[in-house]
Amino acid sequence: MKHLTEEQIAQYAEALSEGTSQNIDTSLREHVKECDLCADEVATVSAMLDEGVSSGASDTRVRSINRKVSFWVSVAAGLVLLVGVGAYFVYFQSTQQPGTPLVAENQQEKTGDSMDQKTDVDEGSAGDQPEEPVADTPEGDSKQLEAPTDKPNQQQATIQDNQLAEAYRPSARLEQLSARYNGVSMRSDGFEMRSKHILSTKANDTLNISWIADQSQKLTFSLYDNKEQLVAEEEVPVKGYSFVADYEKGLYYYKVINQDYDLLYCGKIIIE
Ligand SMILES: [Zn+2]
Repeated sequence: MKHLTEEQIAQYAEALSEGTSQNIDTSLREHVKECDLCADEVATVSAMLDEGVSSGASDTRVRSINRKVSFWVSVAAGLVLLVGVGAYFVYFQSTQQPGTPLVAENQQEKTGDSMDQKTDVDEGSAGDQPEEPVADTPEGDSKQLEAPTDKPNQQQATIQDNQLAEAYRPSARLEQLSARYNGVSMRSDGFEMRSKHILSTKANDTLNISWIADQSQKLTFSLYDNKEQLVAEEEVPVKGYSFVADYEKGLYYYKVINQDYDLLYCGKIIIE
């Protein structure tokens, strides 16, 4: 059996919300009647439309909004990095200065050297940021902070906290989808998850997810961020998958899908 595409689900949900589902193709309606998975997705999207999350928006407009959102997310991520660098500087200076009154001069020189090196590294990484307009402001501000006070420190910490909180905010749709696989180990479709439903890892550590699937299955592993954007997709072995979590900190969801596009599992990954 063939599941509805994302587009068909969106159209179906829109028709449901507008009360025009009789216009939907009979074969699609038959499928949704039989398939819990698609029925759930349609219901979730329809509920989102009813809540006014994207009321009146066509499918393509919803997608372009998603793309805009993801652009601003990457801008925000760049900002967090720069603000983080600035906060580090302020912290570094305020802890070093009072802490070194009795230290011999040559040690202070060493401190100076290491700070210079640090500056070079930071400027190098800041130069890699593509968003120039936002890059200028926090970078410039943090350099002017010769005499640091607690206030900018706190402000920067708050901005950083907010951005981090945003990256861990659950996606309503994927949350609901993944919840259906929580605690279900052996499934009728020849797939058994061996790892925990919610996995956590440090950024850049290797994450191992272990499952058992029929040898005949061709599995695809798809990783989504909490904005439901696909960040990675890989054909994976029938016994599990290991990969380096070189992604931004945040909440992620993954799907394991077979060659017939059956969703075998949907789980969560927290990158700390
Ligand atoms: Zn289906």
